[in-house]
Amino acid sequence: MDKIEKKGGILIVPDHVIIPFITGDGIGKEITPVCLGVVDAAVNSAYGSGRSILWQEVPAGQDCFEKRGTYLPDETLQAFKEYLVGLKGPLMTPVGGGIRSLNVALRQTLDLYVCLRPVRYFSGVASPVRHPEKVDICVFRENTEDIYAGIEWESGSPQARKFGNFLRNEMGVSKVRFPDSSAYGVKPVSREGSERLIRSAIQYAISHNRPSVTLVHKGNIMKFTEGGFRAWGYELAQREFGQYIDSGALRIDDCICDAFLQNALLTPEKYSVVATLNLNGDYISDMLAAQVGGIGISPGANINYESGHAIFEATHGVAPAIAGKDIANPSSIILSAAMMLDYMGWSEASSIITDTLAQAFRQGIATPDIASSHENGHAVGTKEFGRKLISLMDSK
Ligand code: NAD
Repeated sequence: MDKIEKKGGILIVPDHVIIPFITGDGIGKEITPVCLGVVDAAVNSAYGSGRSILWQEVPAGQDCFEKRGTYLPDETLQAFKEYLVGLKGPLMTPVGGGIRSLNVALRQTLDLYVCLRPVRYFSGVASPVRHPEKVDICVFRENTEDIYAGIEWESGSPQARKFGNFLRNEMGVSKVRFPDSSAYGVKPVSREGSERLIRSAIQYAISHNRPSVTLVHKGNIMKFTEGGFRAWGYELAQREFGQYIDSGALRIDDCICDAFLQNALLTPEKYSVVATLNLNGDYISDMLAAQVGGIGISPGANINYESGHAIFEATHGVAPAIAGKDIANPSSIILSAAMMLDYMGWSEASSIITDTLAQAFRQGIATPDIASSHENGHAVGTKEFGRKLISLMDSK
């Protein structure tokens, strides 16, 4: 067994590879073991004994805090650093001090600047729109900048007053309508940050034979931050990927965010890969996921394509109300693990997982959250769902 490395810009994946994983809190304890079983079966089905994963559990979350007094031990961060690629179940956000969010801590420590959310429809899943099958969009959301940088000051605080005075006295800003009661936030958007995100989106589009990358922004109003993102994006695309654009293999276009939200509902088939800033990406990913009825089954990953570090995760939370009842849907983490296999270059195993899940949903085999709205729904528990997926793989 060996570890994944990044050498000369290329991800080197050994055939027998160690992958660290966090089980997660709440329903994480149910969905993560099911996911590992499904992934092992898919890898075995695709490669026999030629390839395998040695799962290495690393501690994090509530249990870890109770046993060791820390939510996220250094050894866990070190494992993700060392092994590059990992899988993560949902973690409860600790209430009342200490660490703000375990997810944010992992993203910041490893500088995971892309939040990747592919959104597609699975036949049989209830959707609020008439043609959910027209949605097949990969969202590249910038993960480290924008208003999410966490630079803000509370209304009435000495810092807010100081910042207000600085704006007025040093920067000549007279537009703040209610200076005495204003809170302030700062929105940093850099050329480097925008370029690395947009480069990743374009490389993904090229390597996955996708026809277009749309830069989604609000540059008509925020001219230097969101407008900068758009301008830097077009420049980078022409500079680094000009041959693909000139040959017609790739189209780069852009769309103002409010128009995008409308268009993506009316004509989603016009979009393939979307590159956008942090806050826009937050709204867009959830809206698109809702459109395909997949808000609870959407996969996601946080990735640094330069260092190779990547954590693939369930996008939902720990669902305390259903934890321990064997009814949680493991599809989000399973599809995230399929993304992980694709990232590792094990695309045959990845396709086996998505095809099998699609087959199960078509037949109405699903956990109660999906099966209850399927016309031939056959609800099964979390563990049984995992077993059904594996037997569907075996029968192919
Ligand atoms: P949640 O996603 O846990 O639950 C929202 C709703 O969706 C609930 O009704 C829940 O029962 C349902 N649900 C979620 N996942 C499901 C699944 N796999 N199968 C079936 N139903 C599912 O969101 P919340 O209630 O806002 O958050 C609960 C806790 O989870 C909080 O501590 C929050 O901070 C944490 N959280 C963690 C992550 C993460 O680790 N990535 C993401 C979101 C929330």
